Parts: sequence; C-alpha cells; structure tokens
Amino acid sequence: MHEHVFVLSTEHLDNYGRGSWWDEEFRVADAVAKLRNVAAKGVRTIVDPAVWGLGRYLPRVQRVAEQVPELNVVVATGLYSYDAIPHQYEHRGPGLLLDMPEPMVEDFARDLTEGVADTGVRAAFLRCVVESKGLTPGVERICRAVARTHLRTGAPITVHTDSSTRSGLPALGLFAEEGVDLTKVVVGHAGDSNDLDYLMRLADTGATLGMDRFGLDLYNPTPQRVATVAALCERGYADRMVLSHDAACFMDYFGDAWDGTLSQAAPNWRFDHIHDDVLPALREAGVSDAQIEQMLVGNPRRYFS
Ligand SMILES: [Zn+2]
Repeated sequence: MHEHVFVLSTEHLDNYGRGSWWDEEFRVADAVAKLRNVAAKGVRTIVDPAVWGLGRYLPRVQRVAEQVPELNVVVATGLYSYDAIPHQYEHRGPGLLLDMPEPMVEDFARDLTEGVADTGVRAAFLRCVVESKGLTPGVERICRAVARTHLRTGAPITVHTDSSTRSGLPALGLFAEEGVDLTKVVVGHAGDSNDLDYLMRLADTGATLGMDRFGLDLYNPTPQRVATVAALCERGYADRMVLSHDAACFMDYFGDAWDGTLSQAAPNWRFDHIHDDVLPALREAGVSDAQIEQMLVGNPRRYFS
C-alpha cells in the first residue's frame, strides 16, 4: 500500500544525474528485476504514492510495468510538500492574482478521471503531506484541494504524516472539517509510532493506519513495529491497518550511495522484508493468518472500492 518504483526528481536528474549516478537503461532493468522478485513472493499489486514533489514521471514507470505484467502498479495524484506551495500554483486560485477556481483540484481531478498527461494512465488515489511543521498555509491549501478532489471524484487519500509530532491528528481534523469520508484515508507513516493511544485515536475516526515503513529501522526498528501491530490486532484493529515498506527501486535522495552504503546502512529496507521476516514475526506474536490477510488484501480492497 506504500511502495515506490522511482523517487527521482526531474530537475535533479537532468542537472546532476546524467553522466553521474543515473543510467536510464540500467535503472529500468534493475527496477524490472526488483519488481519481478516482489511478484515472485505472491504480491499482485503495489501502490505507489509518488506525486509532484517526489518526481512522478509515469512513462518510466510504464516502461517498467510493461515488463512485469504479473504485477499491478497503482499510481497517485496530489502534491508532496512539507511547507510551501509550488510557485506554479502560488498566483493562480480563488482570490489570487489570477482569480480562478482552485487549479490543483482541476489538475488532480483530471489525473483521476481522464489520465495523467498523455500517458493514458489514470491515478487511483490522492496524496498530500502534513509534516512536523503542521498545517502551514501552503500545506493547508494543498490538503483542502486534495479533500475537495476526494469529494468530487470519490478517490481515497493517503496523507504522509510525522508520528513524532502526531501530525495525523490535524490532518484528519482538516479532512473531517471538509467532509471527507475518513474510512477512505490512510494515515501514512503512522507505524513510525508505538504510542497506542495516538494510534487508536487515529483509527477510531475510521481512518486506516499506514504501518508502512518496515525496514526503516532509523525511524522505528522492526521488532517494535511488529509488537505495535500485534498489540493493535489484539485490541481489534486488524481492519484498520495496512503493511508496507515505503521502499523504492531507486531513490535519488541518496545519489551514488543507493546501491552500496545505503543498502548496508538499511539492509532490511527492501520489498521482500515483510514477506520474508515480518509476517513470520507477526505470527509468532499471535497475529492470525486471517488478520494478515485482512491487512494485506481486505483493507486495501475496501480502500479502493
Ligand atoms: Zn513514500
């Protein structure tokens, strides 16, 4: 429910990647191999919330996906910003220099109903962010545009949150105020927290908890993530969690270090950690196969239907 094919900014790539850390053919072949390996584990669908701000570029994802027909890749629309709004939207909108209906709603809705650019691919869900800075003016405008696009199209929402500042609460508060159906919201990165009170407060609104960074031990090590999921299952919240890694085939945040240093620093941050290690640990902690099926299949199906 939260993996990436590529996190790769076009401006970074065009100005610093070519001739350096980026080799298009190598990276496409590498992504195909990694996703074939995921599919071999029995995974049939991954959900990629990369949008503007994380370098969404669907023609490259399409090139990869065409070579892994056994795996569906679900793509998103929205905007990924921790603070400011991109300048491209700054002066266009209600009451702004160019006074017009909110252009983000128009752009996001087109991605969902007609398709992204000329790719022929429709996005299936919306993505935005409420980080540690909270609802800054830019973030608030983006989140309200996402909420209004949800109301117009029915598309579900995944919001990136920061668990250390409990930013899932203001995010859900804003969505509730806008009339969003909170059962159609995934609170991304909720699984970085082991604070059961915070997590139950989020889940009690009807929202789904994104336990979605398995392998990113820097934020929360796997044994703690497993204990938290098991504790929530025991309290009856298996129908309110989804499991993921937030891994990528390639992420330009790390440039040259992606294949070497980074894979040594975060060896479990890979697409098969859940199937190889986390599911056995959850069973060991008392989570049933039915609860695992609920988190991996039932909850995603409900979110998208
Ligand atoms: Zn992500």
